[in-house]
Amino acid sequence: MQTYPLSMVPGPVSVPEEIRKVYLTDYGSGDFEPEFLELYAKAEANLQIIFGTKNSVVIQSGEAMLALWGALKSCLHPADRVLAIGTGVFGRGIGEMAASIGAEVKAVNWDYNETIGDLARIETAMETFKPRMITAVHCETPSGTLNPLAELGKLKNDLHIPLFYVDAVSSVGGAPVQADQNQIDLCLGGSQKCLSAPPSTCFLSVSDAAWDIIEQVDYAGYDALKPFHFAQNRKYFPYTPDWYGIAALNSGAERILNEGLTRCFERHQHVAEFCRDKLVQMGLTLFPSANAIPSPTVTAVNVPSGNTWPEFDARLRKHGLVVGGSLGPMENKVFRLGHMGSQADKNLVEKALAIIEKIL
Ligand SMILES: *Cc1c(COP(=O)(O)O)cnc(C)c1O
Repeated sequence: MQTYPLSMVPGPVSVPEEIRKVYLTDYGSGDFEPEFLELYAKAEANLQIIFGTKNSVVIQSGEAMLALWGALKSCLHPADRVLAIGTGVFGRGIGEMAASIGAEVKAVNWDYNETIGDLARIETAMETFKPRMITAVHCETPSGTLNPLAELGKLKNDLHIPLFYVDAVSSVGGAPVQADQNQIDLCLGGSQKCLSAPPSTCFLSVSDAAWDIIEQVDYAGYDALKPFHFAQNRKYFPYTPDWYGIAALNSGAERILNEGLTRCFERHQHVAEFCRDKLVQMGLTLFPSANAIPSPTVTAVNVPSGNTWPEFDARLRKHGLVVGGSLGPMENKVFRLGHMGSQADKNLVEKALAIIEKIL
Protein backbone atom coordinates (compact mmCIF):
# COMPACT_ATOMS: atom_id res chain seq x y z
CA MET A 1 0.00 0.00 0.00
CA GLN A 2 1.28 3.42 -0.97
CA THR A 3 1.13 6.31 1.43
CA TYR A 4 2.36 9.84 0.95
CA PRO A 5 4.34 11.95 3.39
CA LEU A 6 2.05 14.91 2.64
CA SER A 7 -1.67 14.21 2.51
CA MET A 8 -3.91 17.14 1.67
CA VAL A 9 -6.98 15.23 0.49
CA PRO A 10 -10.30 16.76 1.64
CA GLY A 11 -11.29 13.61 3.51
CA PRO A 12 -10.43 11.09 4.61
CA VAL A 13 -7.92 13.25 6.48
CA SER A 14 -4.80 11.84 8.11
CA VAL A 15 -5.60 10.49 11.57
CA PRO A 16 -3.38 11.87 14.37
CA GLU A 17 -1.53 9.34 16.48
CA GLU A 18 -3.54 10.12 19.65
CA ILE A 19 -6.77 9.22 17.83
CA ARG A 20 -5.22 6.12 16.21
CA LYS A 21 -4.21 4.90 19.67
CA VAL A 22 -7.77 5.25 20.92
CA TYR A 23 -9.06 3.44 17.82
CA LEU A 24 -6.67 0.53 18.34
CA THR A 25 -7.43 0.02 22.04
CA ASP A 26 -9.04 -3.36 22.67
CA TYR A 27 -12.45 -2.77 24.23
CA GLY A 28 -13.37 -6.44 24.54
CA SER A 29 -17.03 -7.36 24.34
CA GLY A 30 -18.48 -4.11 25.48
CA ASP A 31 -21.58 -3.48 23.46
CA PHE A 32 -24.17 -3.14 26.21
CA GLU A 33 -21.84 -2.62 29.14
CA PRO A 34 -22.27 0.52 31.26
CA GLU A 35 -18.87 1.67 29.96
CA PHE A 36 -20.19 1.69 26.41
CA LEU A 37 -23.25 3.73 27.37
CA GLU A 38 -20.97 6.16 29.19
CA LEU A 39 -18.77 6.52 26.11
CA TYR A 40 -21.78 7.04 23.84
CA ALA A 41 -23.25 9.67 26.17
CA LYS A 42 -19.91 11.45 26.42
CA ALA A 43 -19.50 11.48 22.63
CA GLU A 44 -23.06 12.78 22.28
CA ALA A 45 -22.41 15.61 24.75
CA ASN A 46 -19.18 16.61 22.99
CA LEU A 47 -20.82 16.56 19.56
CA GLN A 48 -23.72 18.66 20.88
CA ILE A 49 -21.23 21.39 21.79
CA ILE A 50 -19.56 21.20 18.38
CA PHE A 51 -22.93 21.29 16.57
CA GLY A 52 -24.22 24.08 18.84
CA THR A 53 -27.34 22.12 19.73
CA LYS A 54 -29.39 20.90 22.67
CA ASN A 55 -30.99 18.28 20.42
CA SER A 56 -29.99 14.67 20.74
CA VAL A 57 -27.11 13.44 18.63
CA VAL A 58 -27.24 9.96 17.10
CA ILE A 59 -24.03 8.11 16.22
CA GLN A 60 -24.37 5.40 13.57
CA SER A 61 -21.92 2.86 12.13
CA GLY A 62 -20.90 3.72 8.59
CA GLU A 63 -19.57 6.79 6.86
CA ALA A 64 -21.53 9.99 6.36
CA MET A 65 -23.47 8.76 3.32
CA LEU A 66 -25.25 6.33 5.65
CA ALA A 67 -26.58 9.20 7.75
CA LEU A 68 -27.46 11.20 4.64
CA TRP A 69 -29.62 8.32 3.36
CA GLY A 70 -30.93 7.28 6.77
CA ALA A 71 -32.21 10.75 7.67
CA LEU A 72 -34.08 11.06 4.35
CA LYS A 73 -35.62 7.58 4.60
CA SER A 74 -36.49 8.03 8.27
CA CYS A 75 -38.25 11.37 7.81
CA LEU A 76 -40.07 11.14 4.48
CA HIS A 77 -43.34 9.44 3.57
CA PRO A 78 -43.73 8.59 -0.13
CA ALA A 79 -44.67 11.70 -2.14
CA ASP A 80 -43.60 14.10 0.62
CA ARG A 81 -42.31 17.33 -0.90
CA VAL A 82 -38.62 18.18 -0.58
CA LEU A 83 -37.07 21.47 -1.62
CA ALA A 84 -33.43 20.71 -2.42
CA ILE A 85 -31.12 23.72 -2.47
CA GLY A 86 -28.07 23.02 -4.60
CA THR A 87 -24.85 24.91 -5.17
CA GLY A 88 -22.79 21.88 -6.04
CA VAL A 89 -22.47 18.12 -6.34
CA PHE A 90 -23.81 17.21 -2.88
CA GLY A 91 -26.73 19.67 -2.85
CA ARG A 92 -27.98 18.35 -6.18
CA GLY A 93 -27.19 14.78 -5.14
CA ILE A 94 -29.34 15.00 -2.00
CA GLY A 95 -32.29 16.07 -4.18
CA GLU A 96 -31.70 13.04 -6.40
CA MET A 97 -31.47 10.76 -3.37
CA ALA A 98 -34.80 12.07 -2.04
CA ALA A 99 -36.41 11.58 -5.47
CA SER A 100 -35.07 8.02 -5.66
CA ILE A 101 -36.92 7.10 -2.46
CA GLY A 102 -40.20 8.48 -3.77
CA ALA A 103 -40.23 12.09 -2.59
CA GLU A 104 -41.52 14.85 -4.82
CA VAL A 105 -38.47 17.05 -5.24
CA LYS A 106 -38.12 20.63 -6.40
CA ALA A 107 -34.57 21.85 -6.89
CA VAL A 108 -33.36 25.42 -6.53
CA ASN A 109 -29.85 25.46 -7.94
CA TRP A 110 -26.95 27.82 -8.35
CA ASP A 111 -23.82 27.24 -10.41
CA TYR A 112 -21.17 24.96 -8.96
CA ASN A 113 -18.83 27.90 -8.29
CA GLU A 114 -21.50 29.94 -6.46
CA THR A 115 -22.93 29.97 -2.95
CA ILE A 116 -26.60 30.63 -2.14
CA GLY A 117 -27.52 34.03 -3.57
CA ASP A 118 -30.92 35.66 -4.06
CA LEU A 119 -33.06 34.32 -1.20
CA ALA A 120 -36.27 35.39 -2.96
CA ARG A 121 -35.88 32.35 -5.23
CA ILE A 122 -35.94 30.08 -2.20
CA GLU A 123 -38.70 31.99 -0.43
CA THR A 124 -40.97 31.82 -3.50
CA ALA A 125 -40.30 28.11 -3.89
CA MET A 126 -41.11 27.53 -0.21
CA GLU A 127 -44.37 29.47 -0.50
CA THR A 128 -45.63 27.81 -3.66
CA PHE A 129 -44.25 24.27 -3.24
CA LYS A 130 -44.89 24.01 0.53
CA PRO A 131 -42.18 21.41 1.20
CA ARG A 132 -42.14 19.13 4.23
CA MET A 133 -38.36 19.33 4.18
CA ILE A 134 -35.74 21.70 2.84
CA THR A 135 -32.22 20.39 2.27
CA ALA A 136 -28.94 22.27 1.98
CA VAL A 137 -25.21 21.66 2.15
CA HIS A 138 -23.02 23.78 4.40
CA CYS A 139 -19.61 23.13 2.81
CA GLU A 140 -19.80 21.96 -0.81
CA THR A 141 -16.54 20.05 -0.65
CA PRO A 142 -16.09 19.49 -4.43
CA SER A 143 -16.47 23.27 -5.00
CA GLY A 144 -14.58 24.53 -1.94
CA THR A 145 -17.49 26.77 -0.93
CA LEU A 146 -19.43 27.44 2.28
CA ASN A 147 -23.14 28.25 2.16
CA PRO A 148 -24.70 30.66 4.66
CA LEU A 149 -27.24 28.87 6.85
CA ALA A 150 -28.71 31.61 9.04
CA GLU A 151 -30.94 33.08 6.32
CA LEU A 152 -32.27 29.64 5.41
CA GLY A 153 -33.02 28.92 9.06
CA LYS A 154 -34.94 32.17 9.35
CA LEU A 155 -37.01 31.36 6.24
CA LYS A 156 -37.67 27.85 7.57
CA ASN A 157 -38.96 29.37 10.79
CA ASP A 158 -41.01 32.19 9.22
CA LEU A 159 -42.66 29.92 6.68
CA HIS A 160 -43.22 27.03 9.11
CA ILE A 161 -41.34 24.38 7.14
CA PRO A 162 -41.38 21.21 9.30
CA LEU A 163 -37.84 19.99 8.63
CA PHE A 164 -34.48 21.58 7.77
CA TYR A 165 -31.84 19.03 6.73
CA VAL A 166 -28.21 20.18 6.47
CA ASP A 167 -25.22 18.22 5.21
CA ALA A 168 -22.46 19.67 7.40
CA VAL A 169 -20.15 16.70 6.82
CA SER A 170 -17.09 18.70 5.77
CA SER A 171 -17.72 21.76 7.92
CA VAL A 172 -18.73 20.52 11.38
CA GLY A 173 -15.71 20.96 13.63
CA GLY A 174 -14.05 23.34 11.15
CA ALA A 175 -16.64 26.12 10.89
CA PRO A 176 -19.54 27.18 13.13
CA VAL A 177 -22.67 25.21 12.20
CA GLN A 178 -24.88 26.55 15.05
CA ALA A 179 -27.58 23.99 14.49
CA ASP A 180 -30.07 25.43 17.01
CA GLN A 181 -29.56 29.07 16.11
CA ASN A 182 -29.99 28.13 12.45
CA GLN A 183 -33.17 26.09 13.09
CA ILE A 184 -31.61 22.87 11.79
CA ASP A 185 -33.62 19.71 12.54
CA LEU A 186 -31.20 17.22 11.03
CA CYS A 187 -27.55 18.26 10.96
CA LEU A 188 -25.23 15.63 9.54
CA GLY A 189 -21.54 14.89 10.02
CA GLY A 190 -18.95 12.18 9.38
CA SER A 191 -15.93 11.04 11.35
CA GLN A 192 -13.32 11.34 8.62
CA LYS A 193 -13.42 15.07 7.89
CA CYS A 194 -12.85 17.79 10.55
CA LEU A 195 -13.08 15.26 13.42
CA SER A 196 -9.87 13.64 12.09
CA ALA A 197 -11.03 10.09 12.93
CA PRO A 198 -11.09 6.96 10.74
CA PRO A 199 -13.99 6.71 8.27
CA SER A 200 -16.22 4.46 10.35
CA THR A 201 -18.95 6.52 12.01
CA CYS A 202 -21.45 9.22 11.18
CA PHE A 203 -23.45 11.42 13.49
CA LEU A 204 -26.40 13.75 13.31
CA SER A 205 -28.41 16.03 15.54
CA VAL A 206 -32.14 15.28 15.60
CA SER A 207 -34.72 17.83 16.79
CA ASP A 208 -37.87 16.91 18.72
CA ALA A 209 -39.94 17.79 15.64
CA ALA A 210 -37.82 15.39 13.60
CA TRP A 211 -38.22 12.62 16.21
CA ASP A 212 -42.03 12.99 16.04
CA ILE A 213 -41.91 12.56 12.28
CA ILE A 214 -39.44 9.66 12.54
CA GLU A 215 -41.88 7.84 14.86
CA GLN A 216 -44.74 8.43 12.41
CA VAL A 217 -42.80 7.38 9.29
CA ASP A 218 -41.59 4.26 11.13
CA TYR A 219 -38.93 3.40 8.54
CA ALA A 220 -37.05 0.16 9.25
CA GLY A 221 -33.57 -0.54 7.88
CA TYR A 222 -29.92 -0.64 8.89
CA ASP A 223 -29.74 3.15 8.46
CA ALA A 224 -33.03 3.82 10.31
CA LEU A 225 -33.03 6.48 13.02
CA LYS A 226 -36.07 5.26 14.94
CA PRO A 227 -34.23 2.56 16.95
CA PHE A 228 -31.86 5.26 18.25
CA HIS A 229 -34.68 7.36 19.74
CA PHE A 230 -34.68 5.52 23.08
CA ALA A 231 -31.55 3.38 22.59
CA GLN A 232 -29.68 4.84 25.55
CA ASN A 233 -32.63 4.66 27.98
CA ARG A 234 -33.53 1.15 26.92
CA LYS A 235 -29.86 0.11 26.73
CA TYR A 236 -30.61 -1.46 23.40
CA PHE A 237 -28.96 -0.55 20.13
CA PRO A 238 -30.19 -1.88 16.78
CA TYR A 239 -26.84 -3.51 15.99
CA THR A 240 -23.46 -4.11 17.63
CA PRO A 241 -22.09 -0.62 18.10
CA ASP A 242 -18.68 0.21 16.70
CA TRP A 243 -17.08 0.93 20.06
CA TYR A 244 -13.68 1.53 18.43
CA GLY A 245 -15.08 4.00 15.93
CA ILE A 246 -17.15 5.85 18.53
CA ALA A 247 -14.14 6.07 20.87
CA ALA A 248 -12.05 7.51 18.01
CA LEU A 249 -14.83 9.93 17.06
CA ASN A 250 -15.09 11.07 20.67
CA SER A 251 -11.33 11.49 20.81
CA GLY A 252 -11.54 13.69 17.69
CA ALA A 253 -14.29 15.74 19.34
CA GLU A 254 -12.25 16.12 22.54
CA ARG A 255 -9.25 17.22 20.53
CA ILE A 256 -11.34 20.06 19.11
CA LEU A 257 -12.86 21.01 22.47
CA ASN A 258 -9.49 20.91 24.23
CA GLU A 259 -8.16 23.37 21.68
CA GLY A 260 -11.30 25.48 22.15
CA LEU A 261 -14.06 25.61 19.56
CA THR A 262 -13.50 29.26 18.65
CA ARG A 263 -9.75 28.81 18.37
CA CYS A 264 -10.25 25.73 16.24
CA PHE A 265 -12.53 27.65 13.84
CA GLU A 266 -10.00 30.51 13.74
CA ARG A 267 -7.21 28.08 12.90
CA HIS A 268 -9.24 26.76 9.94
CA GLN A 269 -10.04 30.29 8.75
CA HIS A 270 -6.45 31.43 9.10
CA VAL A 271 -4.97 28.43 7.27
CA ALA A 272 -7.57 28.72 4.49
CA GLU A 273 -6.82 32.42 3.92
CA PHE A 274 -3.10 31.71 3.89
CA CYS A 275 -3.61 28.90 1.38
CA ARG A 276 -5.79 30.95 -0.97
CA ASP A 277 -3.48 33.99 -0.85
CA LYS A 278 -0.40 31.93 -1.67
CA LEU A 279 -2.08 30.09 -4.53
CA VAL A 280 -3.18 33.37 -6.10
CA GLN A 281 0.35 34.78 -5.65
CA MET A 282 1.64 31.75 -7.57
CA GLY A 283 -0.61 32.72 -10.47
CA LEU A 284 -3.23 30.02 -9.93
CA THR A 285 -6.95 30.81 -10.01
CA LEU A 286 -9.43 29.70 -7.38
CA PHE A 287 -12.53 27.82 -8.52
CA PRO A 288 -15.21 29.67 -6.49
CA SER A 289 -16.50 32.82 -8.18
CA ALA A 290 -15.46 36.17 -6.70
CA ASN A 291 -18.79 36.65 -4.88
CA ALA A 292 -19.01 33.07 -3.54
CA ILE A 293 -17.97 32.32 0.05
CA PRO A 294 -14.85 30.13 0.12
CA SER A 295 -14.79 27.32 2.67
CA PRO A 296 -12.38 27.43 5.61
CA THR A 297 -11.98 23.65 5.33
CA VAL A 298 -11.12 23.07 1.65
CA THR A 299 -9.71 25.13 -1.22
CA ALA A 300 -10.69 24.35 -4.81
CA VAL A 301 -8.25 25.51 -7.48
CA ASN A 302 -8.45 25.38 -11.27
CA VAL A 303 -5.90 22.96 -12.74
CA PRO A 304 -3.29 25.29 -14.29
CA SER A 305 -3.60 25.65 -18.06
CA GLY A 306 -1.18 23.55 -20.04
CA ASN A 307 -1.57 20.66 -17.57
CA THR A 308 -3.97 17.76 -17.53
CA TRP A 309 -5.17 16.70 -14.08
CA PRO A 310 -3.67 13.17 -14.29
CA GLU A 311 -0.20 14.43 -15.17
CA PHE A 312 -0.36 17.29 -12.66
CA ASP A 313 -1.47 14.81 -9.99
CA ALA A 314 1.31 12.36 -10.94
CA ARG A 315 3.95 15.08 -10.65
CA LEU A 316 2.70 16.12 -7.21
CA ARG A 317 2.72 12.50 -6.06
CA LYS A 318 6.33 12.12 -7.22
CA HIS A 319 7.16 14.83 -4.71
CA GLY A 320 5.19 13.04 -1.99
CA LEU A 321 2.12 15.26 -2.11
CA VAL A 322 -1.38 13.93 -2.64
CA VAL A 323 -4.21 16.42 -3.15
CA GLY A 324 -7.83 15.79 -4.14
CA GLY A 325 -9.25 15.91 -7.63
CA SER A 326 -12.87 16.96 -7.91
CA LEU A 327 -16.21 15.51 -8.93
CA GLY A 328 -19.07 16.15 -11.33
CA PRO A 329 -18.48 18.92 -13.87
CA MET A 330 -15.25 19.91 -12.03
CA GLU A 331 -13.68 16.48 -12.61
CA ASN A 332 -10.26 16.87 -14.28
CA LYS A 333 -10.60 20.66 -14.13
CA VAL A 334 -10.29 21.39 -10.44
CA PHE A 335 -7.98 20.12 -7.73
CA ARG A 336 -8.46 20.59 -4.00
CA LEU A 337 -6.43 21.06 -0.86
CA GLY A 338 -8.22 19.74 2.20
CA HIS A 339 -7.16 21.80 5.21
CA MET A 340 -9.67 20.38 7.67
CA GLY A 341 -9.16 18.86 11.10
CA SER A 342 -5.61 17.54 11.48
CA GLN A 343 -4.72 19.04 8.10
CA ALA A 344 -5.68 22.62 9.05
CA ASP A 345 -2.02 23.10 9.81
CA LYS A 346 -0.10 26.05 8.41
CA ASN A 347 3.23 24.17 8.26
CA LEU A 348 1.64 21.32 6.34
CA VAL A 349 -0.05 23.71 3.91
CA GLU A 350 3.21 25.63 3.47
CA LYS A 351 5.03 22.41 2.54
CA ALA A 352 2.27 21.43 0.12
CA LEU A 353 2.29 24.84 -1.53
CA ALA A 354 6.09 24.72 -1.91
CA ILE A 355 5.74 21.48 -3.88
CA ILE A 356 3.00 22.94 -6.06
CA GLU A 357 5.16 26.01 -6.74
CA LYS A 358 8.13 23.84 -7.61
CA ILE A 359 6.33 21.84 -10.28
CA LEU A 360 4.60 24.85 -11.88
C1 LIG B 1 -17.42 13.70 2.52
C2 LIG B 1 -18.77 14.24 2.32
C3 LIG B 1 -19.93 13.44 2.43
C4 LIG B 1 -19.89 12.00 2.79
O1 LIG B 1 -19.11 11.22 2.04
P1 LIG B 1 -18.48 9.87 2.60
O2 LIG B 1 -18.21 9.13 1.37
O3 LIG B 1 -19.48 9.21 3.45
O4 LIG B 1 -17.28 10.27 3.35
C5 LIG B 1 -21.15 14.05 2.28
N1 LIG B 1 -21.28 15.35 2.03
C6 LIG B 1 -20.21 16.15 1.93
C7 LIG B 1 -20.42 17.61 1.67
C8 LIG B 1 -18.92 15.63 2.07
O5 LIG B 1 -17.85 16.42 1.96
